[in-house]
Amino acid sequence: MSEAIACKFGGSSVADAAQIGKLAAILEADARRRFVVVSAPGKRMKQDEKVTDLLLKCHSMASMHLDFRPTFEQVRERFCSISTDLGTGCIEADLDAVEHGLREGESVDWVASRGEHLHARLIASHLGARYVEAADLIHFDPDGRLDPRSYTLLGEALSGGGLFVIPGFYGAGPDGRVRTFSRGGSDVTGAIVARAVNAEVYENWTDVSGLLKADPRIVPDPAPIREVTYRELRELSYMGATVLHDEAVFPVRETGIPIQIRNTNEPSDEGTRIVATRKDSETIVGIAGRPGFSIITLEKAMMNQEHGFGRRVLEILEGHGMSYEHAPSSIDSMSVVLADEELEGREDEVLSDLRGTLQPDRLEVTRYLALIATVGQGMDHRVGVSGALFAALGAARVNVRLINQCASEISIIVGVASEDYPRAIRAIYDALADG
Ligand code: ASP
Repeated sequence: MSEAIACKFGGSSVADAAQIGKLAAILEADARRRFVVVSAPGKRMKQDEKVTDLLLKCHSMASMHLDFRPTFEQVRERFCSISTDLGTGCIEADLDAVEHGLREGESVDWVASRGEHLHARLIASHLGARYVEAADLIHFDPDGRLDPRSYTLLGEALSGGGLFVIPGFYGAGPDGRVRTFSRGGSDVTGAIVARAVNAEVYENWTDVSGLLKADPRIVPDPAPIREVTYRELRELSYMGATVLHDEAVFPVRETGIPIQIRNTNEPSDEGTRIVATRKDSETIVGIAGRPGFSIITLEKAMMNQEHGFGRRVLEILEGHGMSYEHAPSSIDSMSVVLADEELEGREDEVLSDLRGTLQPDRLEVTRYLALIATVGQGMDHRVGVSGALFAALGAARVNVRLINQCASEISIIVGVASEDYPRAIRAIYDALADG
């Protein structure tokens, strides 16, 4: 592990000159913060538009031969006001090049990536740091996966002393042309850089002080999560607690580099640390959930003796391009839980295929289900956790429609009616996560 910290600053942390001032102060406070990945300017306030969104709008207008100039003026205005306020000199020529690219039919990835590209150059010049071009060093293979050679190339380019600024969100494909990650992908660039320089920590600077143990719109003033493992985070974010791009964990997890989520606006807050193994003994680390699920239930006498029943059900779903969440079963029945959007527009066809192929005695769709995951590696081999959870749901008069706990004992998932969802979250939080 090197004595270095890789930092990624998200869109709101670099939205204007005042925010970039905070970034500079954060770097100054710790000389180990030498590798800085930046996003394009994000929202300055709720109704604001992100530069990436504006660029994408320009691209779609240009591709329909519509006049994109008024929208591009907003991009120009964002960069010019930042560079004027920082006194870094005008980047008009760079902006002209982007406008030219839009006119010449450059790819959507190239256009979308220009927010990070221009902003990283501007911030590097303001900080007196070296700008490092991501498209020269971060490479994707023909399937769109990161080419591991990128770590070596980045490691070489980032060696020696001093401060480096790297644009997030993009690299290049095998043909050398710019390719972006999916939205929010600067988080992934930050993780790749952290791994390439073998950083002691990957600090992800954003506008919240880390993760909370439950959704604050449901639980008043929930406690912060101080430490969470990579695996626990996957469970929580899959169920709706998002603070980091899904793929950002992988590059650092393999080498055990911790991620620290921190708040640019409250730099003294500790934030949340994402680690391989948790030291603290907390059983439950957080509760997350989502409404918007349905259950398809099939019942058939003697189903348990019919070989391949489950496989055929899942094959039919696969044939319709649908993915499912859970498939709990009993002796003569099987149910499949799906997100509502998977069923939308395909329900009649799927049900008719299930009926035709499997000849069930009963086939039913139950709607308005919410799933809740209570997550914590600390429950592994600990007696009484599910007992406390179900006692709390019972006391809150919540009917449990579905239960799922994998043998790895990292989370207990329950399905409840959507109307019971907030009450169920509060009951579980009070019983298991509060204090
Ligand atoms: N600017 C890109 C987006 O808005 C990438 C990022 O900020 O991480 O999605």
